[in-house]
Amino acid sequence: MKLKTFAQGIHPPYNKKTVNLSIEEAVYPHNVIIPLHQHTGATCEPLVKVGDEVVEGQKIGDSAKFISAAVHASISGKVTKIEKMLHPCGVEVLSVVIEGSNSSTVVQRDSSAGEEKKNKTVDGLSPEEIRQIVKEAGIVGLGGAAFPAHVKLSPPKDKKIDTILVNGCECEPYITADHRIMLERTADLLVGAELVAKATGATRVLVGVEDNKHDAVLQLKTEIRKRHFTNLPDGIEVVTLETKYPQGGEKMLIKAVLNREVPSRGLPLDVGVVVVNVGTAVAITEAVRDGKSLIKRVVTITGSGIKEPKNLLVRIGTSFKDIVEQCGGLTADAYKIVMGGPMMGAPQLSLEVPVVKATSCILVLSKSEVKEDQIFPCVKCGRCVDHCPMSLLPTRLAAYANNANYSEFEEWGGQDCIECGCCTYVCPAKIPIVHWVKLAKLKLRQMK
Ligand code: SF4
Ligand code: SF4
Repeated sequence: MKLKTFAQGIHPPYNKKTVNLSIEEAVYPHNVIIPLHQHTGATCEPLVKVGDEVVEGQKIGDSAKFISAAVHASISGKVTKIEKMLHPCGVEVLSVVIEGSNSSTVVQRDSSAGEEKKNKTVDGLSPEEIRQIVKEAGIVGLGGAAFPAHVKLSPPKDKKIDTILVNGCECEPYITADHRIMLERTADLLVGAELVAKATGATRVLVGVEDNKHDAVLQLKTEIRKRHFTNLPDGIEVVTLETKYPQGGEKMLIKAVLNREVPSRGLPLDVGVVVVNVGTAVAITEAVRDGKSLIKRVVTITGSGIKEPKNLLVRIGTSFKDIVEQCGGLTADAYKIVMGGPMMGAPQLSLEVPVVKATSCILVLSKSEVKEDQIFPCVKCGRCVDHCPMSLLPTRLAAYANNANYSEFEEWGGQDCIECGCCTYVCPAKIPIVHWVKLAKLKLRQMK
């Protein structure tokens, strides 16, 4: 049977060698660096000052702006610094440094409100209550974009949402964090999806999973058969998709599963859909049921530059260095560090940066795996066009970007580029198309 998918895309080597490694809890860090900007939107203001004692789960930064996400202390201890520090995105960001104490106190958001407010269920909550809990817990999309989840859960009144699409594709090579979550947190994932449906008014949930994760598909189907979803009159289903990059891109996922096309510069809610990553769904369950804020996430630590690759549950703010040490350290030929996968990840200059909410993977490649090719002139082969999942003309966009011709760049749909890197991957002339396109988009943002 032909599996559902989208047009074009690529089939890179997947290298998902950590797929059978269960999630382990990372060692409790001595100190953490919590950036006040870990999400799309406004930077948080600090709610603490140097010298303050904080406890695990305490909110330490927030913003009055709607598009933002609160940050919380991931360990108990004392605030020793609030200053700009290097962030994995490559710039310095105002951050709160906490030196750990041995206290085991944990703040749960509802602990002051009485026991009756704990252990909330989907049935016992209104959509607005779900949104408020998600907002207070500082939950963002854990698939990489780190978009504040409460914003996604608040569609405008004129946009009717009928379907929640749970994104279990994890199409980036090397990363296995979401695959492990689907296997190990199946029930919590489904509860989270039902909560998202209730918050948005959707009547059904579809879970999209690539066919290289058969065990996850089976496990999800088994768990769905065991449960009754009272808030989903149109049910919950798993949709197996062809393994192809970038199947996990929101627009590709919606096209493959529902055959709906998100309009140019539009959002999934324009076609009645909210997309939520599997890890985000679990975080929503933990926030609602257990009163937990987002202070930990699952990270894959992998690549031939890592001695003992692992999937770890890591406290936000733990340094990459501490995490890599728990994985046996770097190999002698470790060469390039990336946060995220090889296609869309962010290169790192140092391991002295903190794990943030968007850190799905710490990938360390050896020198032999990193190609630093010479760039040649375009040979007009059209491969980039044939593989672009957004049906753009990457070669033309790259030329406009390179010549600072931003009006033509926009005219030819440059803003629709999802920065997947397929064009660069297939280009025989080794032209860094996606890099140039990203720079043009950045320039346009600055100009506006
Ligand atoms: S132009 Fe953008 S969307 Fe198209 S292949 Fe390149 S990076 Fe992907
Ligand atoms: S793939 Fe590279 S060489 Fe071929 S048309 Fe595109 S930019 Fe030119």
